Amino acid sequence: MAVRIDGKSIAARVRKEVAEEVAALKAQGVETGMAVVLVGDDPASAIYVNNKKKACAETGIYSEVHLLPKETTQEELLALIARLNADPKIHGILVQSPLPAHLDEKLVVEHIDPKKDVDAFHAYNVGRIMIGDYTFLPCTPAGVMELIHSTGVSVEGKRCVVVGRSNIVGKPMAMLLLHEHGTVTVCHSRTKDLAAVCREAEILVAAVGKAKLITADMVKPGAVVIDVGMNRNENGKLCGDVDYEAVEPVAGYITPVPGGVGPMTIAMLLKNAVRAARLQNGL
Ligand code: NDP
Repeated sequence: MAVRIDGKSIAARVRKEVAEEVAALKAQGVETGMAVVLVGDDPASAIYVNNKKKACAETGIYSEVHLLPKETTQEELLALIARLNADPKIHGILVQSPLPAHLDEKLVVEHIDPKKDVDAFHAYNVGRIMIGDYTFLPCTPAGVMELIHSTGVSVEGKRCVVVGRSNIVGKPMAMLLLHEHGTVTVCHSRTKDLAAVCREAEILVAAVGKAKLITADMVKPGAVVIDVGMNRNENGKLCGDVDYEAVEPVAGYITPVPGGVGPMTIAMLLKNAVRAARLQNGL
């Protein structure tokens, strides 16, 4: 039976470390500040934004939420980003995705000052991740790395398989595993015989968005299985990409959904905010 990796308690530990660092910075006269921008009234986005606001408050980070109507124009949004870029109270800026269809998300991200890009989505920061010399960790992949580290299993020399190649999860995930000397394969919707590739993995990361895509026959006995997916099952319950009940007896370590990767993403975002505050103040 696999050891369950408790993302909630690991995230709580990271948050505690962040809170201590925020307090230490405050003692040096720096109040860490974050701005969250939400355009429109998507209910799921509103929940995510609220969670981020709460997480900031719990760790002593000053936060301001900018709620903009869904009719906001590109120019208005870029003007707000420019104001936040210039605001010394704000060290981290994040724009909640998805934006309404008439807004160009890529362009908006490219207007965030890379020094304040706590999501690490700006091309400058993505490039830094690629060369392994980065200021900001990409939040979800960095959270996954913390979870892998918590098992005591070293990535070095391991066969790692990442299922999913998005810019925010799959690709940076593969890079972080590579930086730790894993032998990494990235799979996607056109991969042939996904099951056979996954079965080779000593570390398997699923980041697809399809419930029960990863079944027990796709998992090498004893593997570390990390489930990034967030889906709703037929009963509307939150679930991941891994068929948890079936895979648990085969894997060596496994993350649950909820309570695995999810709590880590926000914890790593807070870590980036405090790092941004430190750097912007020459500390
Ligand atoms: P995307 O939709 O951007 O990417 C999904 C990837 O999965 C694509 O690369 C796609 O391939 C691949 N894929 C789709 N179907 C298959 C298949 N049948 N076999 C193999 N690969 C397939 O999603 P994201 O990366 O943004 O997110 C992935 C999941 O992680 C989602 O459930 C999302 O909600 C969740 N998530 C969770 C977070 C957390 O904090 N826990 C944070 C971010 C995301 P192709 O490129 O060929 O289309």
